[in-house]
Amino acid sequence: MRAAIYPGSFDPVTFGHIDVIERSSKLVDQLIVGVLNNNTKSPLFSVDERVNMLKEATKDFGNVEIISFSGLLVDFAQSHNIHILVRGLRAITDFEFELQMAQTNRIINPDIDTIFLTTNLQYAYLSSSNVKEVAMYNGDISHFVPGFVINKVYEKFGIPKR
Ligand code: ADP
Repeated sequence: MRAAIYPGSFDPVTFGHIDVIERSSKLVDQLIVGVLNNNTKSPLFSVDERVNMLKEATKDFGNVEIISFSGLLVDFAQSHNIHILVRGLRAITDFEFELQMAQTNRIINPDIDTIFLTTNLQYAYLSSSNVKEVAMYNGDISHFVPGFVINKVYEKFGIPKR
């Protein structure tokens, strides 16, 4: 069985993430979305909130499982006996960081490879950070995140429901 892990912060999940999940889940038998718990970025949403939003967003995909992890990604992958990591590439600005991380992971564990899916052009501009920035100033985020996520984001900024 071919399995892969798509790791990330998902703070919160966006249409860009869901697109990568949908496309990569078609390339493997099982896709685990790994939600990073030990985040130095002090996330807006708790790890449980991020896991639950991802579960809701992917409930129609039969072979996708959402699991949180802390510590090293390669250790998480090894503990599930998974050798493929999936990451998304939006622009050249992602490339340097992603290349460095993939190479570091391969040095730590040479059995693990990272594959990259280029963004769907429709979502090339989209990141969790810009969702938060727009929401903070009461901007419209309905083009960025699923309907059920919208008010959860506003709530974090004390903005009344829309
Ligand atoms: P991290 O903090 O690990 O970068 P993110 O949740 O920001 O976590 O992103 C997880 C992965 O999803 C990364 O590989 C990122 O490049 C990718 N990604 C994020 N947004 C998009 C998008 N709009 N299109 C394609 N890939 C994306």
